[in-house]
Amino acid sequence: MAVSRVPLIAGNWKMNLDHLQAIAFVQKLAWSLADAKHDFAAVEVAVFPPFTDLRSVQTLVAADKLPLAYGGQDLSAQDSGAYTGEIPGGFLKQLDCGYVIIGHSERRTMHAETDEVVAAKVQAALRHDLVPIICVGETAEDLEEHGPSAVPVAQLKAALAGVSSAADIVVAYEPVWAIGSGQAATPEQAEQVAAALRATLAETLGEDVAAKTRILYGGSVKAANIAGFMREPNVDGALVGGASLDIDEFSSIARFQ
Ligand code: PGA
Repeated sequence: MAVSRVPLIAGNWKMNLDHLQAIAFVQKLAWSLADAKHDFAAVEVAVFPPFTDLRSVQTLVAADKLPLAYGGQDLSAQDSGAYTGEIPGGFLKQLDCGYVIIGHSERRTMHAETDEVVAAKVQAALRHDLVPIICVGETAEDLEEHGPSAVPVAQLKAALAGVSSAADIVVAYEPVWAIGSGQAATPEQAEQVAAALRATLAETLGEDVAAKTRILYGGSVKAANIAGFMREPNVDGALVGGASLDIDEFSSIARFQ
């Protein structure tokens, strides 16, 4: 039986938009989507602001009952204690975050996050009932050396160490060479890796989890290329960086046009 997965369009703001800008942005995004008669039950839309914006976003979303999801761009593997600068999953949950991005390539490279750290953060997210968006992806050198799927599959296997088949997770395939480069993967490339990632989910967590887990593509997604990705059977949405900072563009991406 074909399982229907609700697509997820997720905007990773990275280190952009302060809390005042976030309030204006989220309000206008909600208006833009409402104007376009966006069916939120058919396509989920989420934003990932900097930590300092989350309380403002929570207040706005709750007050105006906006149908938008949101989450953190990272979290600590620990729950509390002497970890200067870190934010635990419990604090994100208290702000009604639904999701948290884990293992983004910028965290892996600039903050030396290893597969072990990513796996510990996935556990932390699940402990606090946050859905982890587990990012995996190969560099251009990996692609040349190992082919398209080997590194993302190995990263996913490592991230899932200790995850039970009851867990609700999202996987984001983000080739490092495509992030912020303007050079997106082709839909066929994204599908090939997404299919390999789904096979890995089936192997490690079982067919049911593999069938229900959403796999996103990320890396230079724009309104002009989203439709091609969404036509692929194993691609269930997008993790959008730069283009998520433009309301009209992001709203168009959420409509796959
Ligand atoms: P990009 O970033 O859309 O700007 O390429 C994607 C990401 O880093 O999640």
